[in-house]
Amino acid sequence: MKKFAVIGSPIKHSLSPQIHTLFGKRLGIQISYEAIEVKRAEFKAKVDKLLNDGYLGLNVTLPLKEMAFQYSDINSEEATFTESVNTLNIKNSSVFGETTDGQGLLLDLKDKGFRLEGSRVVLLGSGGSAKSIIPSLLSNNLKSLSVANRTQNKAEVLVNKYKDTSPEIGLIEVDKPVDSEVDIVINATSAGTLKQSLTMPPNIFGPTTRVYDLSYSKDITPFNLLAQKAGIKDTYDGLGMLVNQAALSFEIWNEIRPDIEGIEGKLRS
Ligand code: NDP
Repeated sequence: MKKFAVIGSPIKHSLSPQIHTLFGKRLGIQISYEAIEVKRAEFKAKVDKLLNDGYLGLNVTLPLKEMAFQYSDINSEEATFTESVNTLNIKNSSVFGETTDGQGLLLDLKDKGFRLEGSRVVLLGSGGSAKSIIPSLLSNNLKSLSVANRTQNKAEVLVNKYKDTSPEIGLIEVDKPVDSEVDIVINATSAGTLKQSLTMPPNIFGPTTRVYDLSYSKDITPFNLLAQKAGIKDTYDGLGMLVNQAALSFEIWNEIRPDIEGIEGKLRS
């Protein structure tokens, strides 16, 4: 039996164990997959122990992705570039760091009919997941990508990193109005997951704006509820991204990509 787990905090409600168990069943691969609570202060000790106990791979979620990047012996090109790791792969006693968030998001946006090319996109947040999705978003010829974060300095660092190669990226203040219509809003903050309120530009939701919240929950996410109250009909949560990034992680560990057909619907029901 191959052992895998997702680590993070809070982790109790993670759907990753269900998703990976379904993948294993579909492909006839015997795996175990647990959700294990790991806080920032205990990251190294707990991950060391899990690897000692024979886990072959770990998914890493908030707030640990940047720590996982530091922990890995060898990071993939994309993980190095984004300084964020959501998949640790143990092979020949080395720890390989990978990120599947960006590709997972793109696959789901495509599936949901989002058109990125030529769009004005606002990204809220500058944590591990924002870092990991920016290069994927920028690879789609956006008209603009405006980044806002509660701690503005973190957004500034991110924007400066890409500014030279992608002049369409820019900074916006989290509590000031935006000065043009927004086609797509992507929420990559953890405010909803942490059940906290979120400050954002007051006019972010226009009549044709589409909204994608990376968070997911059994009921509508707090961010998508806000958007719907502002009149937006087209809101999506991050469950499809979760399934897609999970399939990419599963492939890294088991060298075969599971079929995701029907899994998002199954989880919703
Ligand atoms: P991090 O902890 O790395 O970053 C959190 C971000 O949220 C930071 O930018 C932080 O701002 C911001 N934030 C937190 N609380 C608030 C608040 N009350 N108001 C405004 N901003 C706030 O988390 P991740 O980036 O890893 O995850 C973010 C979210 O994305 C989570 O909900 C996670 O579940 C979801 N996610 C979903 C995935 C999927 O597959 N669907 C994949 C990856 C993530 P500051 O810098 O000021 O602290």
